[in-house]
Amino acid sequence: MLIHAAFLGGLGLFVGSFLGLVSLRLPRGEDVIVGRSRCGGCGRTLKPWRMIPVISWALSRGRCSDCGATIPARYPLIELGSGLIGVWAGLSSPDFTLAAMTAVLGWNLLILAVVDAEHFWLPDALTLPLFAGGLLAAVLLYPVGGPSALLPALIPPLLGAIVGFVGLWLLARLYKLVRGREGLGGGDPFLLGAGGAWVGWTGLPSVLLWASAAGLSLVLTLLIMRRRVSGTDRLPFGVFLSIGVWMTWLYGPLGLG
Ligand SMILES: [Zn+2]
Repeated sequence: MLIHAAFLGGLGLFVGSFLGLVSLRLPRGEDVIVGRSRCGGCGRTLKPWRMIPVISWALSRGRCSDCGATIPARYPLIELGSGLIGVWAGLSSPDFTLAAMTAVLGWNLLILAVVDAEHFWLPDALTLPLFAGGLLAAVLLYPVGGPSALLPALIPPLLGAIVGFVGLWLLARLYKLVRGREGLGGGDPFLLGAGGAWVGWTGLPSVLLWASAAGLSLVLTLLIMRRRVSGTDRLPFGVFLSIGVWMTWLYGPLGLG
């Protein structure tokens, strides 16, 4: 497990580098895959030794070596977060396939949370891979292999996806009917649906419970810091849903264990 944790943690740092890039380029509509990392100040491509996660940033004290422009701390933070997710996933199970799929889930949720926090946006380009990953995990982790197991393996994630999507979509409709304004972003039902493909429909209530707990903690923290929070403030609900999916995947549906 320690070897898995070290491997997935190290891999996570580099995945985090890529996620930092995606989280910048996707909202701008730029090509995500093509093109090396560039300095936001002078536009020079970063030299390979400047792209070592976290360390490069720390050694250059968060500045570009060419023009001295500040490199935002969000990059090393995303890299660190991604590395921690890898370690957490590695420690979560002695089974490498399960640990690796857990890390994949965590990395996908991390980028969704980052983009939602910064742009209040949950792109299909990120929720669809989450859905596909849930199906893949179900097939890979299904106890009996072989083509005959494909259908029974796929039923729980598909059911989870449908119940998650329809459930939150109906809730959003209901909210709009009662309050006369949008309470949820359009991407939230897609995120809960994709998350449902991982945790199954029985996991969905605990996803929402974790999400509410995380959301409430944030509101309380803001209140303690004497920030005004009103009922019309926008909160990136996708961030809390992501936390909910992660905790439910790792620790199972609440109250049923
Ligand atoms: Zn520069």
